[in-house]
Amino acid sequence: MNKLNIKNFTIEELEEIMVQNGFSRFRGLQIFKWIYKDVASFKYMKNLPLSIIDFLNEKFFLGRTALIEKQQSKDGTIKYLLGLHDQNAVECVLMDYKHGYSVCISSQVGCRMQCSFCASTEGGLIRSLTSGEMVEEVMAAAREKGVVISNIVVMGIGEPFDNYDELIKFLKIINNKEGLNIGMRHITISTSGVVPRIYSFADENLQCTLAISLNSPFDEARSRLMPINKKYNIGELLKACDYYISKTNRRITFEYALISNVNDREDDAKALSKLLKGKLCHINLIPINPVSGKEHIKSDNKRVEAFKKIIEDNGLQVTVRRELGSDIQGACGQLRKSYISAENNLIS
Ligand code: SAH
Repeated sequence: MNKLNIKNFTIEELEEIMVQNGFSRFRGLQIFKWIYKDVASFKYMKNLPLSIIDFLNEKFFLGRTALIEKQQSKDGTIKYLLGLHDQNAVECVLMDYKHGYSVCISSQVGCRMQCSFCASTEGGLIRSLTSGEMVEEVMAAAREKGVVISNIVVMGIGEPFDNYDELIKFLKIINNKEGLNIGMRHITISTSGVVPRIYSFADENLQCTLAISLNSPFDEARSRLMPINKKYNIGELLKACDYYISKTNRRITFEYALISNVNDREDDAKALSKLLKGKLCHINLIPINPVSGKEHIKSDNKRVEAFKKIIEDNGLQVTVRRELGSDIQGACGQLRKSYISAENNLIS
């Protein structure tokens, strides 16, 4: 029988497993607490009888990843390539901000959204991550650097809303006060615009930040950059965003990766401002990280500033994302991409 990753279970599920196997219910909470103290083995769960430790060893594993590679940027940003139990690999990135450490995690191995500028999409989707594997990315970064994590962004490899149920379970586990206790307000989920899931997410009424990768105010251009726009166009996407805002009263972040002569013209900035005017939102401009093998070129600083000014002049809130880790293949998916293409390193 295949062993199960114990990080995939909530307290209630662990309690149920205990009861069903003839142990006391309260052991579930004890086990949960130990997992998030990051013990390296079940045998270190000191207040458990040997019979339970044997049971855990027989049925479960702790779901720790193996560090395959680490890249440290001059600015302190660290990117980790983590090996999963089935030989797949995912990336997470640790960023050191004034207000604490933030981890950017992946939600899938690969991605099927096929955005033209993104490195994560090459090779397609291999599989989605489980909730426990996402939790482990946060724990691996904390463990490797020896720090406490205060913020999480789900902006790494993958489309989180293409892995919705595990994402929601991940949020509940990571937020639990008996475990890592990371506040929902300290978590941001970024989506390419899977419209039905935006409605579901609004109905969850969680206090996280929702970020939408918009990247163009025009359907034709957006469809070229992000094929998901052919399924859910900008009109449908913004309708879902309006529902989210009215339901949660939370501000949406619109991400906009600036690509030279593709979506950074004056007309783009004007149309973007018109599209978002009056919405409870914030616009985050990201000068694109060039990805090898893709033709997109980063907008120069002058263009970025001019673009920003048009949006500001229209009364909208806009910031330019500080570029962290650009010297360590900062754009999501690039480290895994170079790993899978390296000789003798093929991931099955
Ligand atoms: N699938 C989700 C989350 C992963 S992408 C989404 O699309 O939102 C996270 C963010 O990184 C997105 O806003 C995406 O547009 C941006 N991104 C992807 N490739 C990039 C690149 N090469 N340079 C800059 N930003 C990039």
